[in-house]
Amino acid sequence: MSYITMSPLELKDELDIITAQYNTHKARKLSLNMARGKPSREQIALSLPLLDCVNSSSDLYSEDDTDCANYGVMDGIIEAKRLMGSIMQQDPDLVCVCGNASLNIMYDLVCMGFMRGFDGETPWNQLDTVRWLCPVPGYDRHFAIIEAFGFEMIPVPLLENGPDMDLVEKLVESDASIKGIWCVPQYSNPSGVTYSDKTVTRLASMSCAAKDFKIFWDNAYCVHHLSDDNQDFVADIAQACEAAGNAQRYFKFASTSKITLPGAGIAAVGASKNNITAVKKHLSVQTVGYDKMNQLRHVRFLKDYDGIVEQMRKHAAIIKPKFDLVDAKLTQGLADTDIASWTKPHGGYFISFDGLDNTAKRTIELAREAGVTMTGAGATWPYKKDPHDSNIRIAPTLPPLEELDTAIDVFICCVKLAALEILLKR
Ligand code: PLP
Repeated sequence: MSYITMSPLELKDELDIITAQYNTHKARKLSLNMARGKPSREQIALSLPLLDCVNSSSDLYSEDDTDCANYGVMDGIIEAKRLMGSIMQQDPDLVCVCGNASLNIMYDLVCMGFMRGFDGETPWNQLDTVRWLCPVPGYDRHFAIIEAFGFEMIPVPLLENGPDMDLVEKLVESDASIKGIWCVPQYSNPSGVTYSDKTVTRLASMSCAAKDFKIFWDNAYCVHHLSDDNQDFVADIAQACEAAGNAQRYFKFASTSKITLPGAGIAAVGASKNNITAVKKHLSVQTVGYDKMNQLRHVRFLKDYDGIVEQMRKHAAIIKPKFDLVDAKLTQGLADTDIASWTKPHGGYFISFDGLDNTAKRTIELAREAGVTMTGAGATWPYKKDPHDSNIRIAPTLPPLEELDTAIDVFICCVKLAALEILLKR
């Protein structure tokens, strides 16, 4: 039944029904959480044997005889570089394996641009204005990094095939203060979009007024497919940049946060020869070396690219039913109301949901009051300001299936209630 075509009287009747449903949910005093894209306990259990891969009786030397229990090899042991290079489509020689999480490296590289500058250009701290392109909806922690440096964020719509490239090209061509763009090229957070080959080529070859323009290529979900038969793949940004004569334009990031243990994985950055040398120099001021024992543990547990694929199949077996459940319930509960749309990703960790304009905050508030915590409305936009107040990020992985089932029922009820309130005010 379409809410959009209902008369005021019909809307009022529907409001009474949905309010009664909402009050029933509220009386259950639920405490459910769909706020952040965290793996479930069951997924964490997949990686616990990792902890047994290195112990006091293990050989603690890497394959080139580096003692992993001691200082040295700031850019990572060779087998960890090879492992991370295999998922990043990057020559291991152009990879630096760092610490436990990739967000930290992204922060560090923005900091590097700020303190030292890139490609011999002026450090960003000496410029009056630095701007950054932020495809929306996007990842709140990316936006928080840019905000922390006081740069101005410019939202760019994320379309079916990646960022709106007509707009991106127009902006970077004429504005030298635009120094970078966030890209989550595969199974983007939160919409699940994967960039088309054409988008990758256009990003790599576009003409930029800033000579030190950088693509921050955060391929956080590079191997995170939900099934074997319906997978997206993204073209290699390094190759595209090289082919376009812009080899210095990209930084690639990846981590095992959602392959093994979030917060206790290994993370890596990839860049051109010149840039990886500069990055290592920058990082070597802050550390003599990252945690090589953890690198060793990861390599011994995951082994190689095929080992990672196998591990990701196990994750998919746990989380695909959750994505399917959310989609089935949203379809059943909302498809004929004409008040919502949502994405159906082939991988990653999120579903991006859009309700009617001016309903996202209210929906989240209603859900919270009924005991269901979701990602805050606006989080998917720079400065937490969604101009439509319509986008909500659904993170289905953490709760067990039964809890997710209940949480989505509550969510659907809240979406309807918020929409009815708005429609009745028209
Ligand atoms: N990048 C994206 C796009 C993410 O969605 C996340 C986590 O949700 C991260 C990075 C965090 O990765 P890490 O744990 O390696 O810092």
